[in-house]
Amino acid sequence: MTAFDLDLFVIGGGSGGVRAARIAAGDYGARVALAEESRMGGTCVIRGCVPKKLMVFAASGPAGVAEARAYGWDATLGGFDWPRFRAALAAELDRLEAAYRGTLSRAGVTVHDQRARIADAHTVELADGTRLTARHILIATGARPYVPACPGSALAVTSDAMFTLPALPRRLLIVGGGYIACEFAGIMAGLGSAVTLACRGAQVLRGFDDEVREVVAEAMRHQGIDLRTGLTVTALDRDGDAIRATLTDGSAGTFDTVLYATGRVPNTDGLGLEAIGLAPGRNGAVPVDGWSQTAVPSVYAVGDVTDRLQLTPVAIREGHAFADTVFGARPWQADHALVPTAVFTQPEIGTVGLTEAAAAAQGPVEVYASAFRPMRSAFAGRPDRALMKLVVAADTRRVLGCHIVAPEAGEMIQLAAVAIRMGATKEDFDRTVAVHPTLAEELVTLRSPVRQA
Ligand code: FAD
Ligand code: NDP
Repeated sequence: MTAFDLDLFVIGGGSGGVRAARIAAGDYGARVALAEESRMGGTCVIRGCVPKKLMVFAASGPAGVAEARAYGWDATLGGFDWPRFRAALAAELDRLEAAYRGTLSRAGVTVHDQRARIADAHTVELADGTRLTARHILIATGARPYVPACPGSALAVTSDAMFTLPALPRRLLIVGGGYIACEFAGIMAGLGSAVTLACRGAQVLRGFDDEVREVVAEAMRHQGIDLRTGLTVTALDRDGDAIRATLTDGSAGTFDTVLYATGRVPNTDGLGLEAIGLAPGRNGAVPVDGWSQTAVPSVYAVGDVTDRLQLTPVAIREGHAFADTVFGARPWQADHALVPTAVFTQPEIGTVGLTEAAAAAQGPVEVYASAFRPMRSAFAGRPDRALMKLVVAADTRRVLGCHIVAPEAGEMIQLAAVAIRMGATKEDFDRTVAVHPTLAEELVTLRSPVRQA
C-alpha cells in the first residue's frame, strides 16, 4: 500500500474546508493539512455573511432613532463615523480569524498559509514548491465575484471592497438584483448613501416568490432606494473623481462608487483540474456527485466551488458529510432540498421550500397569505408591509413553501423550516396555538386560501 504524507489535504480555509478539516482531524484522528492563500475563515467570515450582518446592524441606526422618536423619545441622530466602525469591524474579523485558526490547531490540522494546486490525484503542490501526498484531496476554494465585461468595468468595485471603503460614497450605483445587490442597497441607504440599483430583470431577486419580490421592492423604494428594473450598464467612464455610468436605456448618471453584484464564479482557475483530467462544469464549477466526490475517486469538492447552493450552512454541511463519510464510516449526504435562507433587506426575507409558481407547476396548490402593516410600524407611521405566505399542496395538505417578509424573518424561517422538513400540513400549523402579539402568529392563523393555483 502506498504511504501518503497525509490522510487529507484541504485546499481552502473557508466554511466548507475548515469544517471538513476539523471533523476529519479532531473527531476521527486523520492526519490533515489545509492550505489557505488569504485569510482563514474564507468569504463568510472575512468578506461575506459576518461583516455584512454587522453592517446591517450599523445601518439600522437612523431607522431606530426615527422609530424611537415616533414612540415618544426625544431622540436625535448624530453622524456616522465610518472610520471608527470600519476599525471596529476589522478588529472583530481579526478576532474571528484567530478563533478559526485556534480551532484548527486544537484539532491537530497543519495550516499552510499559501496557495495550493493539485499536481496529481494524490499530490498537492504549494506555492513555495513543497509537494505533499494525501490519500484524499478536498477542494474547498469557494467562489469570487463575477463582473461582466463592459467598457470601464475596471472602475467598479465588488462586495469584497465594501468592508474597507476609504470613505462612504455619497452616490452609489449597484448593478445586479440578487442577494448582494439588495442587501447592500439597504445597508448603504441606511448609512446615508443615495443608492441607485440597476437590475436587468423585470423585478429584483429572481428565483424568490413573486409576492415576496414585490413587497421587498416596494420596501426598498420606501427606503429611498432608486430601484431601476429592466436596465443594466453599458459603459463606465471616469468623470473627475466620480464615475459616469451609461445605462441600456441611454440614460446616464454620476456616482462616487459603482458596485457590481452580478453573481459569483467558482475558484478553479489554476487549480490543476486538468492535471487529473477533470473538466470544469457550468461557470467553472467542480462537478461532483451527491457524496461531493469528483470523477477522480480520491478528490472531493464542497462549498461554493461546486456551484450548488452558495450558502455558508450548505458548505458546512457538505464538508461535515464528507468527513463523516470518508473518515468516520458514517456515510450521509448533504441534502439540498428545503434549505431555508434569508436575505437581510429591511425588512428581511425568510424563505424555505417552493415558490408559489414552482409548486403550482408540480400540482394543484392552495395559497394562504397575509400582507399587513405590523403593529410596530403602524404605530410609528411607517408604511412598510409584512408578508406571511404558505403554499400548500391541495391533495396532501403538506406545506410546500413558506415565505416571510418581516423584521427578523431570518429568525422565523429557521423554526418554520423544522416543521416543514418534518412534513407539517396546513392543519398542523392551524392546530398550533398562536403566540400573541407577534408577527409570527400570522403563520398559524391564516384561515382561508387567498387563491388556488
Ligand atoms: P469560501 O468561504 O469562499 O472559502 C474558500 C477559501 O479558499 C478562501 O478563503 C480562499 O482564499 C481560499 N482559496 C481559494 N483558492 C485557493 C487555493 N488555490 N489555495 C489556497 N486557498 C485557496 N451565505 C449565507 O449563508 N448567509 C449570508 O448571510 C451570506 N452573506 C454573504 C454576503 C456576501 C457579501 C458574500 C460574498 C457571500 C455571502 N454568503 C452568505 C455566501 C457564503 O459566504 C459562502 O457560501 C461561503 O463562504 C462558501 O464557503 P466555501 O467554504 O465554499 O468558500
Ligand atoms: P445572485 O445570483 O443572487 O444575483 C446575481 C444578480 O446579478 C442577479 O440579479 C442577476 O440577474 C444579475 N446578473 C448576472 N449577470 C449579469 C450581467 N451580465 N449583467 C447584469 N446583471 C447580471 O448573486 P450575488 O452576487 O448577489 O450573490 C452570490 C451568492 O452569494 C448568492 O446567490 C447567494 O447564494 C450568496 N449570498 C447569500 C446571502 C445570504 O444568504 N443572505 C447574501 C449574499 C450572498 P438575473 O436574475 O437576471 O440573472
